[in-house]
Amino acid sequence: MHPPHVLVIGAGLGGLSAAASLAAGGLEVEVFEKNDRIGGKLNLLEQDGFSLDLGPSILILPHIFRRVFERAGRRMEDYVHLQELQPQWRCFWEDGTRLDLHPDVARMEAELATLPGATRGWWSFLEYSRELYRFCDRAYLQPGADTFREVLAGHTLGEVVHGSDPLRTMASGIARYVEEPHLRDMLGFFIKYVGSSCYDAPALMNLLPFSQLGYGLWYVTGGMYNLARAYDRLLGELGVRVHLGSEVVRIRTEGPRATGIELADGRFVAADYVVSNMEVVPAHRHLLGEPEDRVRRLEKRLEPAASGLVLHLGVDRIYPQLQHHNFFFSRNLEAFLAAIHRRKELPEDPTIYLVCPTVTNPDLAPSGHSVLKILPHIPSIQDPPFSASDYQALEARVLDKLERMGLEDLKSHVVTRHVLLPEDLERMYRSNRGAIYGVVSHRTQNFAFKGPKRSRRYPNLYFVGGSVNPGGGTPMVTLCGQNVADRILGDVASGRAAHPSSGA
Ligand SMILES: Cc1cc2nc3c(=O)[nH]c(=O)nc-3n(C[C@H](O)[C@H](O)[C@H](O)COP(=O)(O)OP(=O)(O)OC[C@H]3O[C@@H](n4cnc5c(N)ncnc54)[C@H](O)[C@@H]3O)c2cc1C
Repeated sequence: MHPPHVLVIGAGLGGLSAAASLAAGGLEVEVFEKNDRIGGKLNLLEQDGFSLDLGPSILILPHIFRRVFERAGRRMEDYVHLQELQPQWRCFWEDGTRLDLHPDVARMEAELATLPGATRGWWSFLEYSRELYRFCDRAYLQPGADTFREVLAGHTLGEVVHGSDPLRTMASGIARYVEEPHLRDMLGFFIKYVGSSCYDAPALMNLLPFSQLGYGLWYVTGGMYNLARAYDRLLGELGVRVHLGSEVVRIRTEGPRATGIELADGRFVAADYVVSNMEVVPAHRHLLGEPEDRVRRLEKRLEPAASGLVLHLGVDRIYPQLQHHNFFFSRNLEAFLAAIHRRKELPEDPTIYLVCPTVTNPDLAPSGHSVLKILPHIPSIQDPPFSASDYQALEARVLDKLERMGLEDLKSHVVTRHVLLPEDLERMYRSNRGAIYGVVSHRTQNFAFKGPKRSRRYPNLYFVGGSVNPGGGTPMVTLCGQNVADRILGDVASGRAAHPSSGA
Protein backbone atom coordinates (compact mmCIF):
# COMPACT_ATOMS: atom_id res chain seq x y z
CA MET A 1 0.00 0.00 0.00
CA HIS A 2 1.10 3.54 -0.71
CA PRO A 3 2.38 5.24 2.48
CA PRO A 4 0.27 8.16 3.77
CA HIS A 5 1.12 11.45 2.08
CA VAL A 6 1.94 14.41 4.34
CA LEU A 7 2.18 18.02 3.18
CA VAL A 8 4.16 20.43 5.34
CA ILE A 9 3.39 24.13 4.88
CA GLY A 10 6.58 26.07 5.62
CA ALA A 11 10.24 25.14 5.97
CA GLY A 12 11.03 26.77 9.32
CA LEU A 13 12.93 24.65 11.82
CA GLY A 14 9.69 23.16 13.14
CA GLY A 15 8.49 22.21 9.66
CA LEU A 16 11.89 20.75 8.73
CA SER A 17 12.09 18.69 11.91
CA ALA A 18 8.56 17.34 11.35
CA ALA A 19 9.30 16.58 7.68
CA ALA A 20 12.54 14.70 8.45
CA SER A 21 10.96 12.76 11.34
CA LEU A 22 7.90 11.80 9.28
CA ALA A 23 10.01 10.70 6.32
CA ALA A 24 12.29 8.73 8.66
CA GLY A 25 9.10 7.01 9.87
CA GLY A 26 8.31 5.87 6.32
CA LEU A 27 5.73 8.46 5.22
CA GLU A 28 5.78 10.32 1.92
CA VAL A 29 6.48 13.96 2.67
CA GLU A 30 6.46 17.17 0.65
CA VAL A 31 7.31 20.63 1.96
CA PHE A 32 5.95 23.87 0.46
CA GLU A 33 7.85 27.02 1.40
CA LYS A 34 6.93 30.47 0.14
CA ASN A 35 10.46 31.86 0.41
CA ASP A 36 13.28 30.93 -1.92
CA ARG A 37 15.29 29.22 0.80
CA ILE A 38 14.55 26.90 3.70
CA GLY A 39 15.07 27.74 7.40
CA GLY A 40 12.34 30.32 8.07
CA LYS A 41 13.70 32.72 10.69
CA LEU A 42 17.00 30.87 10.53
CA ASN A 43 17.95 33.08 7.64
CA LEU A 44 21.06 34.49 6.03
CA LEU A 45 22.03 37.70 4.25
CA GLU A 46 25.32 38.39 2.50
CA GLN A 47 25.88 42.15 2.35
CA ASP A 48 28.97 44.24 1.52
CA GLY A 49 31.36 41.42 2.41
CA PHE A 50 29.59 40.60 5.69
CA SER A 51 27.70 37.39 6.34
CA LEU A 52 24.70 38.11 8.56
CA ASP A 53 22.73 35.36 10.31
CA LEU A 54 19.40 37.23 10.35
CA GLY A 55 17.78 34.99 12.97
CA PRO A 56 19.17 32.80 15.72
CA SER A 57 22.76 33.28 16.83
CA ILE A 58 23.07 30.47 19.35
CA LEU A 59 21.23 27.34 20.36
CA ILE A 60 20.75 25.39 23.56
CA LEU A 61 19.74 21.75 24.24
CA PRO A 62 21.73 20.33 21.30
CA HIS A 63 20.52 16.77 21.97
CA ILE A 64 17.09 17.81 20.64
CA PHE A 65 18.62 18.65 17.23
CA ARG A 66 20.78 15.52 17.30
CA ARG A 67 17.68 13.35 17.64
CA VAL A 68 16.30 14.52 14.29
CA PHE A 69 19.32 12.92 12.63
CA GLU A 70 19.31 9.87 14.91
CA ARG A 71 15.69 9.13 14.06
CA ALA A 72 16.85 8.83 10.45
CA GLY A 73 19.72 6.52 11.43
CA ARG A 74 22.34 9.25 10.94
CA ARG A 75 24.83 11.14 13.11
CA MET A 76 24.41 14.89 13.25
CA GLU A 77 28.21 15.34 13.36
CA ASP A 78 28.36 14.03 9.79
CA TYR A 79 26.17 16.94 8.65
CA VAL A 80 26.92 19.94 10.85
CA HIS A 81 29.31 20.93 13.60
CA LEU A 82 28.44 22.69 16.86
CA GLN A 83 30.95 24.54 19.00
CA GLU A 84 30.45 25.43 22.63
CA LEU A 85 30.63 29.08 23.72
CA GLN A 86 32.39 30.15 26.92
CA PRO A 87 31.61 32.36 28.68
CA GLN A 88 27.99 31.89 27.78
CA TRP A 89 26.97 35.51 28.33
CA ARG A 90 28.72 38.76 29.11
CA CYS A 91 26.46 41.23 30.91
CA PHE A 92 26.94 44.98 31.23
CA TRP A 93 25.08 47.39 33.52
CA GLU A 94 24.90 51.18 33.51
CA ASP A 95 26.58 51.30 36.98
CA GLY A 96 29.73 49.83 35.38
CA THR A 97 29.20 46.28 36.65
CA ARG A 98 30.23 43.57 34.22
CA LEU A 99 29.57 39.89 34.80
CA ASP A 100 30.27 36.74 32.78
CA LEU A 101 28.09 33.67 32.98
CA HIS A 102 30.00 30.38 33.15
CA PRO A 103 28.76 26.82 33.52
CA ASP A 104 32.03 25.94 35.23
CA VAL A 105 31.73 26.16 39.04
CA ALA A 106 35.17 27.61 39.82
CA ARG A 107 34.92 30.25 37.10
CA MET A 108 31.43 31.24 38.15
CA GLU A 109 32.50 31.45 41.81
CA ALA A 110 35.24 33.86 40.72
CA GLU A 111 32.70 35.98 38.83
CA LEU A 112 30.28 36.03 41.76
CA ALA A 113 33.09 37.20 44.04
CA THR A 114 33.42 40.38 41.94
CA LEU A 115 29.91 41.52 42.83
CA PRO A 116 29.51 43.94 45.71
CA GLY A 117 26.30 42.40 47.10
CA ALA A 118 25.58 39.04 48.68
CA THR A 119 25.53 36.29 46.07
CA ARG A 120 24.48 33.37 48.24
CA GLY A 121 21.55 31.55 46.80
CA TRP A 122 23.03 31.28 43.29
CA TRP A 123 23.78 27.56 43.56
CA SER A 124 20.51 26.72 45.34
CA PHE A 125 18.70 28.62 42.59
CA LEU A 126 20.43 26.47 39.98
CA GLU A 127 19.36 23.34 41.84
CA TYR A 128 15.77 24.67 41.76
CA SER A 129 16.17 25.42 38.04
CA ARG A 130 17.40 21.87 37.44
CA GLU A 131 14.38 20.38 39.24
CA LEU A 132 11.99 22.50 37.20
CA TYR A 133 13.73 21.44 33.99
CA ARG A 134 13.66 17.76 34.92
CA PHE A 135 9.96 17.87 35.79
CA CYS A 136 9.03 19.81 32.68
CA ASP A 137 11.11 17.56 30.43
CA ARG A 138 9.44 14.45 31.84
CA ALA A 139 5.88 15.72 32.07
CA TYR A 140 5.56 18.18 29.20
CA LEU A 141 8.42 18.31 26.71
CA GLN A 142 9.14 14.66 25.95
CA PRO A 143 5.53 13.43 25.87
CA GLY A 144 4.58 16.48 23.80
CA ALA A 145 1.76 17.43 26.17
CA ASP A 146 -0.68 20.11 25.01
CA THR A 147 -2.88 20.59 28.06
CA PHE A 148 -2.72 20.59 31.83
CA ARG A 149 -4.85 17.46 31.76
CA GLU A 150 -2.22 15.65 29.68
CA VAL A 151 0.49 16.73 32.13
CA LEU A 152 -1.64 15.48 35.02
CA ALA A 153 -2.22 12.13 33.30
CA GLY A 154 1.19 10.78 34.27
CA HIS A 155 1.62 12.62 37.57
CA THR A 156 -0.09 13.31 40.87
CA LEU A 157 -1.23 16.85 41.61
CA GLY A 158 1.42 16.98 44.35
CA GLU A 159 4.17 16.15 41.83
CA VAL A 160 2.89 18.81 39.46
CA VAL A 161 2.80 21.45 42.20
CA HIS A 162 6.25 20.51 43.45
CA GLY A 163 7.68 20.29 39.94
CA SER A 164 6.29 23.53 38.52
CA ASP A 165 6.09 26.07 41.39
CA PRO A 166 2.71 27.24 40.02
CA LEU A 167 1.92 30.06 42.44
CA ARG A 168 4.95 32.19 41.65
CA THR A 169 6.05 34.23 38.69
CA MET A 170 9.49 33.66 37.26
CA ALA A 171 10.76 36.84 38.99
CA SER A 172 9.37 35.86 42.39
CA GLY A 173 10.86 32.37 41.96
CA ILE A 174 14.26 34.03 41.48
CA ALA A 175 13.74 36.42 44.39
CA ARG A 176 13.20 33.45 46.72
CA TYR A 177 16.83 32.45 46.25
CA VAL A 178 18.80 35.43 44.97
CA GLU A 179 19.02 38.92 46.43
CA GLU A 180 21.81 40.51 44.44
CA PRO A 181 20.14 42.84 41.89
CA HIS A 182 22.51 42.15 38.97
CA LEU A 183 22.03 38.41 39.38
CA ARG A 184 18.28 38.90 39.52
CA ASP A 185 18.41 40.81 36.24
CA MET A 186 20.59 38.20 34.60
CA LEU A 187 18.47 35.25 35.67
CA GLY A 188 15.23 37.08 34.89
CA PHE A 189 16.37 37.93 31.40
CA PHE A 190 16.64 34.27 30.46
CA ILE A 191 12.99 34.88 29.55
CA LYS A 192 14.40 36.62 26.49
CA TYR A 193 14.66 33.19 24.88
CA VAL A 194 10.87 33.09 24.63
CA GLY A 195 10.13 36.82 24.23
CA SER A 196 8.11 37.23 27.41
CA SER A 197 8.42 39.01 30.78
CA CYS A 198 9.82 37.34 33.90
CA TYR A 199 7.33 39.44 35.90
CA ASP A 200 4.39 37.80 34.10
CA ALA A 201 5.73 34.36 33.12
CA PRO A 202 5.21 31.39 35.43
CA ALA A 203 8.08 30.37 37.75
CA LEU A 204 8.38 27.22 35.67
CA MET A 205 10.29 29.29 33.12
CA ASN A 206 13.14 29.29 35.64
CA LEU A 207 14.03 26.03 33.95
CA LEU A 208 15.80 28.14 31.31
CA PRO A 209 19.07 28.80 33.19
CA PHE A 210 19.60 25.06 33.75
CA SER A 211 18.70 24.34 30.11
CA GLN A 212 21.69 26.46 29.15
CA LEU A 213 24.13 25.94 32.03
CA GLY A 214 23.48 22.21 32.18
CA TYR A 215 23.68 21.49 28.44
CA GLY A 216 25.89 24.28 27.14
CA LEU A 217 25.43 27.19 24.75
CA TRP A 218 26.30 26.38 21.15
CA TYR A 219 27.14 28.06 17.89
CA VAL A 220 26.98 26.33 14.52
CA THR A 221 30.47 26.25 13.09
CA GLY A 222 30.73 28.37 9.95
CA GLY A 223 27.49 30.25 10.70
CA MET A 224 24.04 29.33 11.99
CA TYR A 225 22.66 28.82 8.48
CA ASN A 226 24.77 25.65 8.20
CA LEU A 227 22.08 24.00 10.31
CA ALA A 228 19.53 24.66 7.55
CA ARG A 229 22.00 23.30 4.99
CA ALA A 230 22.35 20.13 7.08
CA TYR A 231 18.57 19.66 7.10
CA ASP A 232 18.46 20.27 3.37
CA ARG A 233 20.90 17.41 2.80
CA LEU A 234 19.09 15.13 5.25
CA LEU A 235 15.70 15.78 3.62
CA GLY A 236 17.17 15.09 0.19
CA GLU A 237 18.53 11.75 1.39
CA LEU A 238 15.17 10.86 2.92
CA GLY A 239 13.37 11.58 -0.35
CA VAL A 240 11.43 14.62 0.91
CA ARG A 241 10.51 16.94 -1.94
CA VAL A 242 10.93 20.60 -0.96
CA HIS A 243 9.15 23.16 -3.14
CA LEU A 244 10.61 26.64 -2.73
CA GLY A 245 8.81 29.81 -3.83
CA SER A 246 5.54 27.92 -3.25
CA GLU A 247 3.08 29.87 -1.15
CA VAL A 248 0.11 27.96 0.21
CA VAL A 249 -3.03 30.09 0.10
CA ARG A 250 -5.64 27.64 1.36
CA ILE A 251 -6.04 24.41 3.29
CA ARG A 252 -8.98 22.72 1.62
CA THR A 253 -11.36 20.94 4.00
CA GLU A 254 -14.32 18.62 3.61
CA GLY A 255 -16.37 17.89 6.72
CA PRO A 256 -13.92 17.06 9.51
CA ARG A 257 -10.94 16.51 7.17
CA ALA A 258 -8.24 18.58 5.60
CA THR A 259 -8.08 17.23 2.08
CA GLY A 260 -5.09 19.13 0.72
CA ILE A 261 -3.61 22.51 -0.06
CA GLU A 262 -4.04 25.16 -2.73
CA LEU A 263 -0.98 27.00 -3.95
CA ALA A 264 -0.76 30.63 -5.03
CA ASP A 265 -0.38 29.46 -8.66
CA GLY A 266 -3.78 27.72 -8.45
CA ARG A 267 -2.57 24.12 -8.12
CA PHE A 268 -4.21 21.76 -5.65
CA VAL A 269 -2.25 19.00 -3.92
CA ALA A 270 -4.17 16.30 -2.08
CA ALA A 271 -2.99 15.02 1.28
CA ASP A 272 -3.68 12.47 3.98
CA TYR A 273 -2.20 14.81 6.58
CA VAL A 274 -1.40 18.51 6.53
CA VAL A 275 1.17 20.02 8.91
CA SER A 276 1.17 23.81 9.09
CA ASN A 277 4.40 25.53 10.08
CA MET A 278 2.52 28.75 9.40
CA GLU A 279 1.49 29.98 12.86
CA VAL A 280 -1.90 29.00 14.23
CA VAL A 281 -3.54 32.46 14.10
CA PRO A 282 -2.55 33.42 10.52
CA ALA A 283 -3.29 29.86 9.35
CA HIS A 284 -6.83 30.08 10.75
CA ARG A 285 -7.29 33.53 9.24
CA HIS A 286 -5.74 33.03 5.81
CA LEU A 287 -5.57 29.29 5.09
CA LEU A 288 -8.75 28.08 6.77
CA GLY A 289 -10.73 31.28 6.18
CA GLU A 290 -12.18 31.27 9.71
CA PRO A 291 -14.50 34.20 10.53
CA GLU A 292 -12.63 37.20 11.94
CA ASP A 293 -14.41 37.17 15.33
CA ARG A 294 -13.28 33.56 15.89
CA VAL A 295 -9.73 34.40 14.83
CA ARG A 296 -9.71 37.36 17.26
CA ARG A 297 -10.79 35.05 20.10
CA LEU A 298 -8.04 32.63 19.16
CA GLU A 299 -5.53 35.48 19.06
CA LYS A 300 -6.55 36.53 22.56
CA ARG A 301 -5.65 33.08 23.86
CA LEU A 302 -2.50 32.88 21.76
CA GLU A 303 -1.15 36.38 22.36
CA PRO A 304 2.02 36.94 20.36
CA ALA A 305 5.35 37.00 22.17
CA ALA A 306 7.71 39.94 21.73
CA SER A 307 8.94 41.14 18.39
CA GLY A 308 12.18 43.05 17.94
CA LEU A 309 14.01 45.80 16.22
CA VAL A 310 16.63 43.54 14.63
CA LEU A 311 19.61 45.64 13.69
CA HIS A 312 22.63 44.14 11.94
CA LEU A 313 25.72 46.28 11.66
CA GLY A 314 29.03 45.66 9.96
CA VAL A 315 31.63 47.82 11.70
CA ASP A 316 35.20 48.58 10.70
CA ARG A 317 36.72 47.78 14.07
CA ILE A 318 36.80 45.19 16.81
CA TYR A 319 35.41 45.88 20.28
CA PRO A 320 37.59 43.65 22.48
CA GLN A 321 35.25 43.91 25.46
CA LEU A 322 32.55 41.93 23.64
CA GLN A 323 31.96 38.21 23.81
CA HIS A 324 29.83 36.28 21.30
CA HIS A 325 26.75 36.85 23.40
CA ASN A 326 26.24 40.09 25.36
CA PHE A 327 23.50 41.86 27.28
CA PHE A 328 23.33 45.57 28.06
CA PHE A 329 20.78 45.94 30.81
CA SER A 330 18.19 48.64 31.34
CA ARG A 331 18.53 50.74 34.47
CA ASN A 332 15.25 49.12 35.53
CA LEU A 333 14.50 45.75 33.95
CA GLU A 334 10.99 45.61 35.37
CA ALA A 335 10.10 49.01 33.86
CA PHE A 336 11.48 47.92 30.47
CA LEU A 337 9.50 44.67 30.47
CA ALA A 338 6.33 46.46 31.64
CA ALA A 339 6.68 48.94 28.76
CA ILE A 340 6.80 46.25 26.10
CA HIS A 341 4.60 43.53 27.59
CA ARG A 342 1.97 45.47 29.57
CA ARG A 343 1.74 48.95 28.10
CA LYS A 344 2.85 47.76 24.62
CA GLU A 345 5.09 50.77 24.13
CA LEU A 346 8.48 51.14 22.54
CA PRO A 347 10.92 51.19 25.48
CA GLU A 348 12.75 54.33 26.64
CA ASP A 349 15.67 52.34 28.07
CA PRO A 350 15.68 48.87 26.52
CA THR A 351 17.73 45.90 27.62
CA ILE A 352 19.81 45.16 24.53
CA TYR A 353 20.87 41.75 23.38
CA LEU A 354 24.01 42.12 21.30
CA VAL A 355 25.62 39.24 19.46
CA CYS A 356 29.09 39.58 18.05
CA PRO A 357 29.49 36.33 16.09
CA THR A 358 32.86 37.45 14.69
CA VAL A 359 34.29 36.76 18.17
CA THR A 360 33.75 33.07 17.36
CA ASN A 361 33.91 33.20 13.59
CA PRO A 362 36.00 36.12 12.22
CA ASP A 363 35.39 34.86 8.66
CA LEU A 364 31.91 36.43 8.74
CA ALA A 365 33.46 39.88 8.14
CA PRO A 366 36.46 41.36 6.32
CA SER A 367 39.65 41.34 8.37
CA GLY A 368 39.62 43.83 11.27
CA HIS A 369 35.83 44.23 11.00
CA SER A 370 32.99 42.84 13.14
CA VAL A 371 29.38 41.84 12.79
CA LEU A 372 27.02 43.13 15.49
CA LYS A 373 23.47 41.85 15.81
CA ILE A 374 21.63 44.28 18.09
CA LEU A 375 18.24 43.17 19.29
CA PRO A 376 16.07 45.07 21.73
CA HIS A 377 12.74 43.36 22.17
CA ILE A 378 9.68 45.46 21.39
CA PRO A 379 5.93 44.79 21.25
CA SER A 380 4.48 42.91 18.31
CA ILE A 381 2.56 45.01 15.73
CA GLN A 382 -0.10 47.08 17.49
CA ASP A 383 -3.34 48.72 16.31
CA PRO A 384 -2.40 51.38 15.21
CA PRO A 385 1.19 50.37 14.40
CA PHE A 386 4.29 52.30 15.47
CA SER A 387 5.52 54.78 12.89
CA ALA A 388 8.81 54.80 11.01
CA SER A 389 9.95 57.75 13.12
CA ASP A 390 9.08 55.86 16.35
CA TYR A 391 11.36 53.03 15.23
CA GLN A 392 14.11 55.45 14.16
CA ALA A 393 14.00 57.17 17.54
CA LEU A 394 14.31 53.79 19.27
CA GLU A 395 17.29 52.84 17.11
CA ALA A 396 18.97 56.13 18.04
CA ARG A 397 18.34 55.46 21.77
CA VAL A 398 19.81 51.97 21.40
CA LEU A 399 22.98 53.19 19.69
CA ASP A 400 23.39 56.03 22.21
CA LYS A 401 23.07 53.54 25.06
CA LEU A 402 25.67 51.20 23.56
CA GLU A 403 28.10 54.10 23.07
CA ARG A 404 27.46 55.28 26.63
CA MET A 405 28.10 51.75 27.92
CA GLY A 406 31.47 51.39 26.24
CA LEU A 407 31.16 50.84 22.48
CA GLU A 408 33.03 54.04 21.70
CA ASP A 409 32.02 55.92 18.54
CA LEU A 410 29.94 52.97 17.38
CA LYS A 411 27.87 55.06 14.96
CA SER A 412 30.91 56.38 13.14
CA HIS A 413 32.31 52.86 12.59
CA VAL A 414 29.26 51.46 10.81
CA VAL A 415 30.07 50.41 7.24
CA THR A 416 26.95 48.40 6.51
CA ARG A 417 23.51 48.28 8.14
CA HIS A 418 20.42 46.14 7.82
CA VAL A 419 17.29 46.40 9.91
CA LEU A 420 14.24 44.17 10.32
CA LEU A 421 11.12 45.61 11.92
CA PRO A 422 8.08 43.65 13.16
CA GLU A 423 6.36 44.42 9.84
CA ASP A 424 9.29 42.78 7.99
CA LEU A 425 9.17 39.70 10.22
CA GLU A 426 5.44 39.36 9.55
CA ARG A 427 5.92 39.77 5.79
CA MET A 428 8.93 37.44 5.54
CA TYR A 429 7.80 34.61 7.80
CA ARG A 430 4.05 35.25 8.15
CA SER A 431 4.42 35.27 11.93
CA ASN A 432 1.45 36.69 13.80
CA ARG A 433 2.00 40.46 14.22
CA GLY A 434 5.71 39.98 13.59
CA ALA A 435 6.29 37.98 16.79
CA ILE A 436 9.72 36.38 16.99
CA TYR A 437 9.02 33.55 19.44
CA GLY A 438 5.41 32.56 18.71
CA VAL A 439 3.07 32.80 21.69
CA VAL A 440 3.85 34.63 24.94
CA SER A 441 4.45 32.67 28.18
CA HIS A 442 2.16 34.21 30.81
CA ARG A 443 1.30 32.74 34.21
CA THR A 444 -2.37 33.69 34.41
CA GLN A 445 -3.16 33.88 30.70
CA ASN A 446 -1.89 30.47 29.56
CA PHE A 447 0.56 29.15 32.19
CA ALA A 448 3.03 28.96 29.27
CA PHE A 449 0.85 26.55 27.29
CA LYS A 450 0.68 27.44 23.61
CA GLY A 451 -1.74 26.17 20.95
CA PRO A 452 -2.37 22.41 20.64
CA LYS A 453 -0.49 20.53 17.93
CA ARG A 454 -3.56 18.88 16.48
CA SER A 455 -6.48 20.90 15.14
CA ARG A 456 -9.61 20.29 17.22
CA ARG A 457 -11.75 20.56 14.10
CA TYR A 458 -9.72 18.64 11.55
CA PRO A 459 -7.96 15.67 13.18
CA ASN A 460 -5.60 15.20 10.23
CA LEU A 461 -4.39 18.82 10.42
CA TYR A 462 -1.42 19.53 12.68
CA PHE A 463 0.50 22.67 13.62
CA VAL A 464 4.20 22.91 14.30
CA GLY A 465 6.46 25.77 15.43
CA GLY A 466 6.57 28.61 17.90
CA SER A 467 2.82 29.13 18.21
CA VAL A 468 2.15 25.59 19.49
CA ASN A 469 3.49 23.62 22.45
CA PRO A 470 6.18 23.73 23.68
CA GLY A 471 6.68 27.15 21.99
CA GLY A 472 9.36 29.32 20.39
CA GLY A 473 13.13 29.08 20.16
CA THR A 474 15.07 26.71 17.93
CA PRO A 475 15.20 23.68 20.28
CA MET A 476 11.52 23.87 21.19
CA VAL A 477 10.26 24.08 17.60
CA THR A 478 12.62 21.22 16.70
CA LEU A 479 11.17 19.12 19.50
CA CYS A 480 7.69 20.13 18.41
CA GLY A 481 8.39 18.75 14.92
CA GLN A 482 9.36 15.41 16.42
CA ASN A 483 6.31 15.38 18.70
CA VAL A 484 4.02 16.09 15.75
CA ALA A 485 5.65 13.31 13.75
CA ASP A 486 5.20 10.89 16.66
CA ARG A 487 1.51 11.73 16.84
CA ILE A 488 0.96 11.24 13.12
CA LEU A 489 3.01 8.05 13.06
CA GLY A 490 0.98 6.86 16.07
CA ASP A 491 -2.27 7.62 14.20
CA VAL A 492 -1.03 5.70 11.19
CA ALA A 493 0.14 2.72 13.25
CA SER A 494 -3.11 2.50 15.17
CA GLY A 495 -5.19 2.68 12.03
CA ARG A 496 -6.60 6.06 13.03
CA ALA A 497 -5.13 7.46 9.83
CA ALA A 498 -7.08 9.91 7.78
CA HIS A 499 -8.72 8.39 4.72
CA PRO A 500 -5.98 7.66 2.22
CA SER A 501 -6.01 10.15 -0.61
CA SER A 502 -6.53 8.91 -4.09
CA GLY A 503 -2.83 9.22 -4.63
CA ALA A 504 -2.10 12.96 -4.94
C1 LIG B 1 16.24 37.97 15.08
C2 LIG B 1 15.95 36.63 15.70
C3 LIG B 1 16.84 36.11 16.63
C4 LIG B 1 16.59 34.86 17.20
N1 LIG B 1 17.52 34.33 18.05
C5 LIG B 1 17.37 33.06 18.47
C6 LIG B 1 18.45 32.39 19.13
O1 LIG B 1 19.54 32.94 19.27
N2 LIG B 1 18.25 31.11 19.55
C7 LIG B 1 17.06 30.46 19.35
O2 LIG B 1 16.93 29.30 19.75
N3 LIG B 1 16.04 31.06 18.70
C8 LIG B 1 16.17 32.32 18.25
N4 LIG B 1 15.17 32.92 17.53
C9 LIG B 1 13.86 32.25 17.42
C10 LIG B 1 13.88 31.12 16.41
O3 LIG B 1 14.47 31.56 15.23
C11 LIG B 1 12.45 30.69 16.12
O4 LIG B 1 11.77 30.35 17.33
C12 LIG B 1 12.37 29.46 15.21
O5 LIG B 1 13.37 29.46 14.22
C13 LIG B 1 10.98 29.47 14.58
O6 LIG B 1 10.76 28.27 13.87
P1 LIG B 1 9.31 27.90 13.37
O7 LIG B 1 9.31 26.45 13.10
O8 LIG B 1 8.28 28.40 14.33
O9 LIG B 1 9.12 28.58 11.97
P2 LIG B 1 9.53 29.94 11.24
O10 LIG B 1 10.98 30.17 11.33
O11 LIG B 1 8.60 31.01 11.66
O12 LIG B 1 9.22 29.52 9.75
C14 LIG B 1 7.93 29.39 9.21
C15 LIG B 1 8.12 29.16 7.73
O13 LIG B 1 6.86 28.95 7.13
C16 LIG B 1 6.81 29.68 5.92
N5 LIG B 1 5.40 29.94 5.62
C17 LIG B 1 4.50 30.58 6.41
N6 LIG B 1 3.31 30.63 5.81
C18 LIG B 1 3.45 29.98 4.63
C19 LIG B 1 2.55 29.69 3.57
N7 LIG B 1 1.27 30.06 3.62
N8 LIG B 1 3.01 29.00 2.50
C20 LIG B 1 4.30 28.58 2.43
N9 LIG B 1 5.21 28.86 3.40
C21 LIG B 1 4.77 29.54 4.50
C22 LIG B 1 7.60 30.93 6.20
O14 LIG B 1 8.04 31.55 5.02
C23 LIG B 1 8.74 30.36 7.04
O15 LIG B 1 9.81 29.93 6.23
C24 LIG B 1 15.40 34.15 16.89
C25 LIG B 1 14.53 34.66 15.94
C26 LIG B 1 14.80 35.89 15.33
C27 LIG B 1 13.86 36.42 14.28
